[in-house]
Amino acid sequence: MSLSEKLIEHIRDNGPLTVAEYMGACLYDPDDGYYATRPGIGGASADFLTAPEASQMFGELIGLWCAHEWDALGKPAFNWIELGPGRGVLMEDAIRATKRIEGMHEAATLVLVETSAPLRDEQAERVPDAEWESRIEEVSPGPCIIVANEFFDCLPIRQFVRGEDGWHEKLVGLDEAEHLTFGLSAAIPAPDSEDEIGTVREIAPGLDSIIYDIERRLHDAPGRVLIIDYGYAKPEGADTLQALKRHQKVDPIETPGEADLTAHVDFARIAQLASDANLQVHGPITQGAFLRALGIEFRAEALTRANPSHAERLKREIHRLTHADEMGALFKVICLSSPNLPPPAGF
Ligand code: SAH
Repeated sequence: MSLSEKLIEHIRDNGPLTVAEYMGACLYDPDDGYYATRPGIGGASADFLTAPEASQMFGELIGLWCAHEWDALGKPAFNWIELGPGRGVLMEDAIRATKRIEGMHEAATLVLVETSAPLRDEQAERVPDAEWESRIEEVSPGPCIIVANEFFDCLPIRQFVRGEDGWHEKLVGLDEAEHLTFGLSAAIPAPDSEDEIGTVREIAPGLDSIIYDIERRLHDAPGRVLIIDYGYAKPEGADTLQALKRHQKVDPIETPGEADLTAHVDFARIAQLASDANLQVHGPITQGAFLRALGIEFRAEALTRANPSHAERLKREIHRLTHADEMGALFKVICLSSPNLPPPAGF
């Protein structure tokens, strides 16, 4: 039975799903979910290309950022954690770039938080010395540097739509031909708001619980978290659910489990939760500004000196990572830190 057939049967028996339940099934179903079945994620032939896949400079600069922040923590023994490492390219580049930082690798316990079995296998080829956990809650306490690139965008969202008669939750149900379709719940008793009709508000319950864990961790021991993702500094009230299949946008309701489903990350929410918990918040700033502040141009010059024939390719990669028409502006970077640390590099 395909995932689509399973969902149709489930809805017939139990009624419509929330968008979060639908997204969760499409991404994480153990048999047919996108992450469970697609080890090729992120590669050139895959459905989407992430920053570390686009250029080695990305992981290298993040690695050097981690080294700088490990120094700012006072060089303790620490958990070097990546959330959702994909094929493990970022961490592989980060490790290579920091191998001459004295004492850092000896002090680090590498922990990769990953739910997908095929992706864990891919990660093990590039980062053989890591430990794996399925949830950040399972990582042992202590000082930490945490990196998450394009991880929060895959956490399931619920969507609420402002209609003529109030707010409705967006649901996935069946049309007359028993095909999956989006619909709306009855109006929810919710406070009236200034939002125009048609406004969509999104919440990501899984994001909140990960931030709560991070808050506890950063209060128990010194640490920093770097979150990079596409998203908005302030919610715009639009539907941001999107499905990508072989670099093309497709309808999220078609081919469940076969396309990557994501939503824009609400950076304002992350910043609010963290500052309510008395963490330090830096950013969000654009990925372009962050990478330029970390010296991506100098990194490219050094790589070009070592290998002049790569000059054009490196230029294209910088453009891709930092230009506002590419990943430079839509992608944002935020850093959350334990109290009483100096400001992080790059902000
Ligand atoms: N960071 C990588 C890959 C991003 S794709 C890169 O930049 O290339 C998202 C990654 O998060 C995949 O490895 C996916 O399997 C993992 N993932 C998604 N949801 C997860 C969850 N709830 N817990 C742990 N890992 C998750």
